[in-house]
Amino acid sequence: MESMKKHVVLFPWMGKSHLIPFAQLAQVIERRKGYTVTIVNTPGNILTLRSFLPSSSTIHLVGLPFNPTDHGLNPGSESTDGLPNDHVLRFFQATETLRHSFDLFLSDTIARSPPGSTLCIIADLFHWWTVETAKNLNVFHSNFSVTSAYGLGLLLSVVWDLPHTSADSDGYFSLPNHPNIRLHRSQIPKFLLSPDEHGPLIDCFRRQIPYCRASGGFLVNNAQAFEAAGIDVMRRELGIPVWTVGPLLRLPSTSFSDDSHWDWVRGWLGSHPPESVVYVSFGSMYTISTSQMVELAMGLEASEMAFIWMVRPPVGFDFNGEFRADEWLPEGFEERMREKKRGIVIRGWAPQPEILSHASTGAFLSQCGWNSVLESLTNGVPIIGWPIESEQLINVKMLVEEKGVCVEVARGNDSVVDRVHVEKTIKSVVGGGGKGEEMRRKAREIGKALREAVEEGGDSIRAMDDFLHTALSAKD
Ligand code: UDP
Repeated sequence: MESMKKHVVLFPWMGKSHLIPFAQLAQVIERRKGYTVTIVNTPGNILTLRSFLPSSSTIHLVGLPFNPTDHGLNPGSESTDGLPNDHVLRFFQATETLRHSFDLFLSDTIARSPPGSTLCIIADLFHWWTVETAKNLNVFHSNFSVTSAYGLGLLLSVVWDLPHTSADSDGYFSLPNHPNIRLHRSQIPKFLLSPDEHGPLIDCFRRQIPYCRASGGFLVNNAQAFEAAGIDVMRRELGIPVWTVGPLLRLPSTSFSDDSHWDWVRGWLGSHPPESVVYVSFGSMYTISTSQMVELAMGLEASEMAFIWMVRPPVGFDFNGEFRADEWLPEGFEERMREKKRGIVIRGWAPQPEILSHASTGAFLSQCGWNSVLESLTNGVPIIGWPIESEQLINVKMLVEEKGVCVEVARGNDSVVDRVHVEKTIKSVVGGGGKGEEMRRKAREIGKALREAVEEGGDSIRAMDDFLHTALSAKD
């Protein structure tokens, strides 16, 4: 059977913001017809992936044995979501032990395939060693970046060349391969600023880069029209083909819309005028400090704008445990907001695609993780950026300076945040008039381009077909 002859094996990183776009990528390939699609991961993540796929999906899910406690990790620790900082390096090292079972799975699959079959691997760049697996088995390998090409490309440049070590006295520095781009030390991940403390973690990331350059290509979760500058950055940094196949989004209709559990959120949004509600969330794994939480709450209250805030415990508290948000919020805040129909607090996990696609949502105060950015802009919702870590800090730079769809309200989760600044920034985006309207107009334009890219015949669909042809035609 022809469909058995072209096999795509995907290997996402273990974290919801990686699993979600990989699951979407797998479904796009499934819909192109004629491909067998398999996602491999650790058993706990296979369960999570199953929840992101429709029950009718033909995608195969294969679990690789992984016991976190064998590696000094906590029981059930199969993901970077909520991982204690001092376990991050250990977790990365532990995932390298999946290599043996992954290699076995692949060689066995190849041995059982009909003559003339081809197979390719699409892996997260954190699984750098899969480049060697592909080479040994003579199959095509590509990385898939779940973040922006701009954010990732510049981050790779910083990790590889460490240009921030010669920043000027104001903290700004240039990047060797990108002479027109300047970054500030506060725009790069914190671990890079303390090489003495984090040397082994920096080495762990630096080691991945040559493998990345040795891969057959890079798939990017974005549309060509939206990220020309980023694609240029990636090509300069990696020198390998880049295919823009996004935005790969979890649509509301495939996630929460059938879930009556969230009806009250929809009902609440529906009781507010169009584009009037601010949705606040720091993504699937980040949070802010206790004092920042108070300033954010007071700023939200003073702005008099309606809001939905996805709250989780602040820095230093048990991220995954049960919690009462009022332990950290100003006294009586939640009750006051509820009674005045001004705002609601959701604990731990919100129906984000539903909220962002609702007509009443007018802005997203976000940590600017790439899925969140795409989900917001695809719905034409401007962003109030509060980047915490990683490439989020660089995404914001692009969204503010190049795209004009974002205003940065704060940076990091250890900075001093002022409630008056929060209040004014929120009002400037959703309070009507000037800046907010211009941001919304640009966000709508980008949203249209993003949606068109993934329609049949759109740029991203053509890039996907071109990639599949390249990756699987070797033995045609
Ligand atoms: N998400 C969600 N509900 C939440 C928090 C997050 O559905 O309460 C989803 C969100 O829609 C997005 C992903 O989780 O698809 C978060 O991805 P992002 O790229 O923003 O990055 P993160 O900072 O979580 O790695």
